[in-house]
Amino acid sequence: MKIEMIEAKQLKQKPNWNELGFGKYFTDYMFTIDYIDKQGWVNAKIEPYAPIPFEPSAIVLHYALETFEGLKAYKTKDGRILLFRPEMNARRMQNSNFRLCMPSLPEEDFIEAISKLVSVEKDWIPTLPGTSLYIRPFMFAYENHLGVHPAHNFKFVIILSPVGNYYKNGMSPVKIYVEEEYVRAVKGGTGFAKCGGNYACSVIAQDKAEKMGYTQVLWLDGQYHKYVEEVGTMNVMFYIGDEIVTCPCEGSVLPGVTRDSVIQILKKWGYKVSERLLSIDELMEAGHNGQLKEAFGTGTAAVISPIGVLTYRNDTVVVNQEKIGPLTQKLFDYLTGIQWGQIEDEFHWTREVK
Ligand SMILES: *Cc1c(COP(=O)(O)O)cnc(C)c1O
Repeated sequence: MKIEMIEAKQLKQKPNWNELGFGKYFTDYMFTIDYIDKQGWVNAKIEPYAPIPFEPSAIVLHYALETFEGLKAYKTKDGRILLFRPEMNARRMQNSNFRLCMPSLPEEDFIEAISKLVSVEKDWIPTLPGTSLYIRPFMFAYENHLGVHPAHNFKFVIILSPVGNYYKNGMSPVKIYVEEEYVRAVKGGTGFAKCGGNYACSVIAQDKAEKMGYTQVLWLDGQYHKYVEEVGTMNVMFYIGDEIVTCPCEGSVLPGVTRDSVIQILKKWGYKVSERLLSIDELMEAGHNGQLKEAFGTGTAAVISPIGVLTYRNDTVVVNQEKIGPLTQKLFDYLTGIQWGQIEDEFHWTREVK
């Protein structure tokens, strides 16, 4: 892929690495490429981060023809830059695009675009413990008409945001509200796709949970409102008895890269991992009879997020006395150790950006 470089006239001042938060600051440059009907992918550019002009009739504003990805670049102590399994994001975006009748960048172009942009912006990768450069590829239909049918012209963009340590005061267990009324996804819908529309329909439940003093919602399946699917914007796992249980990826659940990595690690460590349906009744029961040892969410932003409290209707379960479980901690240390290049990458998951 030929990428044109358009230099910025002036570079921004870098924020204080101690006060980054998540997704607040954006770097000097972005990658853009257009998909034009009958021509394919054209005009690959690394250009100054700036507004993207499009018309009010652009399809994305009306019918949400948009997909996105999320991954991170990490700087190691010895100054190497690592990506974590970017090919998984490339393939997942292809699956998301297929569902929304959108074309996809070839896997090698997706990874090349990310690598080149990250390389240009390497001074934006923060180096304090737990910090990283969040990479947000996304794509949308910008042609102008109000008919509802597949689009023909798209823009694919990558922006970068230096992000802080997710756990400013150390990893701490969160309170989860089990959402019974609203659902996030149904089989046959777009649950497996990373698309903006899935988030648009989820914020109401998040808002409701926050107003009641919870951090996130636990989503139940869309048909029976009975089986546990995801927590907030993360996949979720429960250590019950001698098995670690997580929902199978059968259409309504987002196949997380972190989820897949954790499953592989657990299997290698000799744990029994079951991708099976888990009803909320079974889960609450396990919480009350002592079988539920640990619970945690998995996702790129937080990596591993321990769950301390689960409330379903008028019933509340406290997990591991609201403390971080030993397996949760071990997984977090191992996975982040690989990502920051501190321990041996036995799975060959990291990819160095030159
Ligand atoms: C992105 C996302 C995840 C986590 O996926 P990772 O690849 O592990 O970051 C889980 N659930 C939803 C709904 C997501 O959008």
